[in-house]
This record gives sequence, C-alpha cells and structure tokens, in this order.
Amino acid sequence: MAKKSSNIIVMKFGGTSVKNASAMSKVLEIVKSGKEQNPIIILSACSGITDKLLRLIQDASKKTVKMLIKEIESIEDYHLNIIDELISKKEIKKHCRENVQNMIQQLILLVEGVSLLRECTPKSLDAAASFGELLSTTIFDAVCRSNKLDSVFLDIRHILKTDSNYNQALVDFKQTEYLLRKNLLPMSLNGKVIITQGFIGSDGNGVTTTLGRGGSDYSAAVLGSVINAKEIQIWTDVNGVLTADPRIVKNAVTISEMSFDEIQELSYYGAKVLHPDTIKPAIQKKIPVRVLNTFHPENRGTLITSGTKVNTAKIRSVHLKRNCINLTINISHSEITELKILDLLSQLYKSGIKIVTSSLVDNKAFIAIDNPNESHQNSIKNILYGLNYKIEIIELLCICGVNLKSDPDILQKITILLNRFEPESVIYGFSSNSLIFSVSDGNGAGAMNEAHRLILDGK
Ligand code: ADP
Ligand code: ASP
Ligand code: MG
Repeated sequence: MAKKSSNIIVMKFGGTSVKNASAMSKVLEIVKSGKEQNPIIILSACSGITDKLLRLIQDASKKTVKMLIKEIESIEDYHLNIIDELISKKEIKKHCRENVQNMIQQLILLVEGVSLLRECTPKSLDAAASFGELLSTTIFDAVCRSNKLDSVFLDIRHILKTDSNYNQALVDFKQTEYLLRKNLLPMSLNGKVIITQGFIGSDGNGVTTTLGRGGSDYSAAVLGSVINAKEIQIWTDVNGVLTADPRIVKNAVTISEMSFDEIQELSYYGAKVLHPDTIKPAIQKKIPVRVLNTFHPENRGTLITSGTKVNTAKIRSVHLKRNCINLTINISHSEITELKILDLLSQLYKSGIKIVTSSLVDNKAFIAIDNPNESHQNSIKNILYGLNYKIEIIELLCICGVNLKSDPDILQKITILLNRFEPESVIYGFSSNSLIFSVSDGNGAGAMNEAHRLILDGK
C-alpha cells in the first residue's frame, strides 16, 4: 500500500545522544525499532564539537593553520575513533573514513582562507560550524548501513533554504516545502531511512547558513511541519521535560503531558531542553512533539500537544535565567512619562538587546535584560544617558503553571517564599501562567530549589 507523508515521524537526536560510539549505538537501536514509521533522522553535531569548530575558526583569524593543526587533528581523530569502534564492515568503514578525511581537508582549506584574510566573518562561522553536523550524520549513516538499515545520507542544505542572515538565519518555508516534496519525500516514501543534519541550511546562493545555537530542534520542527509529520520526537539525555533543570534541582520530575503554550513559555524563560522557537512550526500544524531519553527509551517522556489542558490551579515547573541584568529607572521626574519608557524599551529592543520582561511599579520602571554583551552594555549607557537609573546583575526565576492567579493559596505560598528568600526581589509580573522575579546574583539555585518544593508539595 502507498505510504502517506502524514505517517512519517521526525526523530531528532541532540549532541549528547551522538556524543560517542556508545551513545550512537543507542540511537541505532531506537532508529531500528522505529523504522516502520518511516523516520526522518535529524542529528546534531557530537557534543562539544560545534564549540570546538567555532573556537577554531575564530582563532584562525589570528593564527596560521600550522598553529591550529593539533586542534583540527583532534576533531578528526575524535570522529575516526567513533568509526573504528562502531563500524565493522570493511568497505563501509573505509569509505566512511575517507569521507571524514575529505571533510577535514575542506575544513583545513576554510581555516587557511580565514587565516590569510585575518578575518572571521559570520559566513565563515557558519561554514565552520556546519562540519559538526555533516560529520556526525556521515558517520551515523554508515553505522546504519553496516547494520543492514536501508538508510540514505541527505545534505539538508539542498532542501532547507534560508535567508542570508548568517548565524541566525530565517527559514524560507515556501522554498523548503517545494524542495522537500520534490527531493526528500519520494525517498522517504520509498522506505528509506533518511539521515540528515539539524542546525544548518543554505541561502539563495547556496551558501551555508545556521539557524542559531541549539537550532537542531528547530530544524526538526521545520521539516516535521512542512512534511506534515505524524509526530516530532526530540531525543535527548533526560526523561523528557522536567519540573526544573535537573542540574540545579536534583529531584526534578518528568511532566508527562503539556500544552504548546506551556512549553513555549518555559523554554522562553530558560528551560534549555528545547530551543524556544522550536515549537512554533509544530503549533501551526498541530503536530505532537514528544521529548524522550535516548539512554532510557523505555520511559514515556513528555508529550506536547495542542489538546493538553490542565484546568486546576497548579505550579508546574520552575526555571532560571542566569546572566541577566535589572535596570531600574526612576520615573518620578515630571519629564519622564510612561510614553518615554515605551520609547526607551523600543530603542533598547532595536539595538539588539533581549528584553525578557518589564514592569512599572510606584514610579519605577524595571527592565530585565538577558545576557547582555559589552556592546549591549554600551548601548544601554547611551540610550539611558541623563536618566536616573541603576543596573544590577541578577538571575531571573520563573515559576510556570496554570491558573496561578485564581488560587489565593498559591499566591500566598509564593509571597512567603519570596519574603523569606529574596525580600528585595523585583516582581515583574504575575499572570495566570507565570510569575517572574529577580534573584540576586548567585542566589538563583537556592531560590529555585525552594520554589520547586511547592511543586513536590502538590501546589
Ligand atoms: P541536546 O544535546 O539533546 O540538544 P540539550 O543540552 O540542548 O540537549 O538539552 C537537554 C538538557 O537540558 C538536559 O540535559 C538538562 O540538563 C537541560 N534542562 C534544562 N531545563 C530542563 C527542564 N526543565 N527539563 C529537562 N531538561 C532541562
Ligand atoms: N550543534 C549545534 C549547537 O551546538 C546545534 C544543536 O546542537 O542543536 O548549537
Ligand atoms: Mg539542544
């Protein structure tokens, strides 16, 4: 019987899931057991490789290839070792090693070019970063074939089209859909397991682009939505979306079901488990997203759908954004009106500053800014010149939930917590779904654990 594209599932495996031979063999087992579902497999680079490639190409603008050759060789050896450990079939192994070595030669040429010009452009950064995903998928495809899976390697740059905004490119959905239906779908419907890259694409001139750090989740959502997939699976190293980052809160637990709105809110406020934009294309097409653990595939993980509704008032998760600053602007001065504050917000926004949230209380405007770099800090000084303002480094704690406002008991518990823990805290807002407040730098983890206790208490 002819297969339909709506039966296809997209499986994305993050960097930790392909970080070495043992992790990749777990991925192989998962792909094998899902092969009847016509999967399209999207991989990230092996964990840590994107960082290494970006550092390498930045260094190339100050150093010669000779000075960087050890770094390049370590990237090559890392990947060749995975091949040696995982691929037993002689011919496939030989061919895969050659492919990897060819890619490393291309990387050397790129490093040489940047070194000669003494300039590392956003374009060069994307070109360098793309090798991470190209290497991991080249190897995994060979692993699949040597294990008798009918897989095919696909260079996603021929399909996923973007604008030329290097490092943070925007997807051209129309072109991508056209190319995907023409070139990818027929292969998939023929029963092939497609192995392709997350994070990368190409612009109208065929030049390599990337979708921003952590962008493989977004690639999965883009391809899943364009193909109208049955489900998008995000395979990672934890049991789904948890009530808090398990690195900070040891007893965080899995949230088994959640809505698109909820995941958008919590990834925006700092839950690193999904790239914040990921879910948008899936929402538009109402495609279920499942977050699963590569190392414990028996767990059911988290299912995110449009239908999931929790009505009773509840705190569901807590999240922390570090490296933020709080701007407090005194607006009691007669010339500084609320309109002026809106104008300031718009100027800050236009200079690329990420405003997480803002509020206006008792003649004071509070603006929380995420991860400002040096140039952002200078822009802030210029924009606020002449005003009475204060800057503090803070962490932002976000308590996410459902109908928070409707339950006075929840409000009271949070108020007690705040008073005990951070009496000076700025509260940016209390909506039905979230409460965001500042915590002084270094106090975030403690406050987060305190707030998490309210979840375990059933609040
Ligand atoms: P991948 O390599 O699979 O893309 P990421 O490192 O991007 O994985 O995301 C998974 C990590 O996100 C987890 O290891 C976990 O430490 C972190 N994380 C932060 N907040 C949460 C949360 N609320 N639920 C689950 N994981 C979280
Ligand atoms: N490899 C890319 C990164 O490290 C993309 C991703 O992993 O999602 O940012
Ligand atoms: Mg990720």
